[in-house]
Amino acid sequence: MSAAASAAPAAGARERVRVVIIGSGFAGLGLAIKLREAGVDDFVILERADAIGGTWRDNHYPGCACDVPAHLYSYSFFGNPDWSETYAPQPELRAYTERCAARWQLHRFVRFGAEVTAAELDEAAATWTVHTRDGRRFVGDVVVAAIGGLSRPLVPRLPGLERFAGPTWHSAAWNHDVPLAGKTVAAIGTGASAIQFVPKLAPEVARLHLFQRTPPWILPRRERAFSARERAAFRVVPGLRRLHRAQLYLGHELRALPFTVEPRLLRLLEPVARRHLARQVPDPALRARLTPAYVMGCKRILISNDYYPAVARANVELVTDGIRELTARGVVTTDGRERAVDAIVFGTGFDIHDYLGGLRVIGRGGEELGARWRTSPEAYLGTMAPGFPNLFTMVGPNTGLGHNSIIFMIECQLRLIMSCLRRMRTHALATIEPRADVTRAYNDELQRRLAGTVWMTGCTSWYQNAAGKNTTLWPGFTLEFAARTRRMRPADYVLRRRDELPARAPAGVAAGVPSVPGRAA
Ligand code: NAP
Repeated sequence: MSAAASAAPAAGARERVRVVIIGSGFAGLGLAIKLREAGVDDFVILERADAIGGTWRDNHYPGCACDVPAHLYSYSFFGNPDWSETYAPQPELRAYTERCAARWQLHRFVRFGAEVTAAELDEAAATWTVHTRDGRRFVGDVVVAAIGGLSRPLVPRLPGLERFAGPTWHSAAWNHDVPLAGKTVAAIGTGASAIQFVPKLAPEVARLHLFQRTPPWILPRRERAFSARERAAFRVVPGLRRLHRAQLYLGHELRALPFTVEPRLLRLLEPVARRHLARQVPDPALRARLTPAYVMGCKRILISNDYYPAVARANVELVTDGIRELTARGVVTTDGRERAVDAIVFGTGFDIHDYLGGLRVIGRGGEELGARWRTSPEAYLGTMAPGFPNLFTMVGPNTGLGHNSIIFMIECQLRLIMSCLRRMRTHALATIEPRADVTRAYNDELQRRLAGTVWMTGCTSWYQNAAGKNTTLWPGFTLEFAARTRRMRPADYVLRRRDELPARAPAGVAAGVPSVPGRAA
């Protein structure tokens, strides 16, 4: 197969490849690596930014690190003996993605500044045309949306947001140019990101008002630096590193039991979290406001050793009254009190439920996948949807985890996609898509199983969509997902050779297909 051209085409240009990958985070890079290993060089990676790395490129807030151990939060096929500590800080993760790109020479496949607006199926030709905002077009047999769940920061539409005169930013777009030393700052949100940046912010600022809507459950973070000797041992004896990874994997995998089978087991962990809180926050009134009122695990369990001490500092105020509005000077709570601040930082999370990141994916009959998924995000194995042949979604519906590393799930999806691509080649298939009845049964099964999990014990979390349906998480052990994605089962799919494709609709019939924004003239 021909190598994709390395120079970015001019606006309006059209590039024809076998596979179009959207996104260069762990998922997109992983697929590119697997393609390269399979001898497929006929692909592009479309990246809206000017560098690779996905969430670990975008998130660089103070204290940013991964709360899954580094030896587990990395590809099984590209171990790194040199992680400095248990939980990798963001710069190390970003450097790791760069090393992957260098090792498999991926940069020449990346088209930077290529923000995808739409992907449109031509079923008669069995191709997808992918459009970018600057008017480029990429035509591929296969499209893989690897845009990630954490690529769309969510700033709540608080009344008066536009009135606030000072700087504001989201944790996923940290503004390092505004010095916060000696300033009064509002931080909104107390999720996974906030509990990492609050301990860095608190000692620096004059005063921090921390607005908490729901207190998280927080467990001690069992962390330590790897010694030079350990790292050398990991390097010289790769089996040691693999053993360490296997231990981490199994330890995490066992946690699926309380999450998905017997939520009452999580109650046994609650005293551990309560003791952690009691040890770190002496003031009983503050402790009470930091104590969650929902079953542990219903929302994501967080780990930190420095968050509670930061909240307990004299210059930090934990505000638990709701936010009524913002003014030019600051934040007004529901009791009418205004707190004047110099800057506002949002640690308010991401739009997890828009799996397609706002890009219009138009499949058979002009149906838009985003519209279908707005009410009911359902895929087969989180990876494919009926009516959208040759389209694959990485980290799609119900592939998220509360207990183990998402990189493991990504690798499962990579295996499934590569298995589909192999099948297409060996059987001269033009298209592949999951059967509608198989997809229906699969999603019914997921929802039946999710009903008994800790995530459905009554809290409000981003695991559920607006209708209260858990559309984000895998309901079992990751080993089961691995078994089900190991290779594609032909019986679960509609497979078409080129001579079985529907004939092109006569002119005029296709007029009902929505026009595509960003489409080159
Ligand atoms: P998050 O967990 O969704 O937390 C958002 C926080 O903002 C919550 O405390 C939420 O309160 C609050 N909030 C949202 N809207 C609000 C409003 N209108 N008024 C007041 N508070 C509001 O977001 P995140 O901390 O950015 O983390 C998102 C996900 O990123 C995590 O769950 C995790 O998957 C990932 N992450 C991972 C790591 C890691 O180390 N692996 C680190 C950071 C993030 P409620 O709880 O009441 O909704």
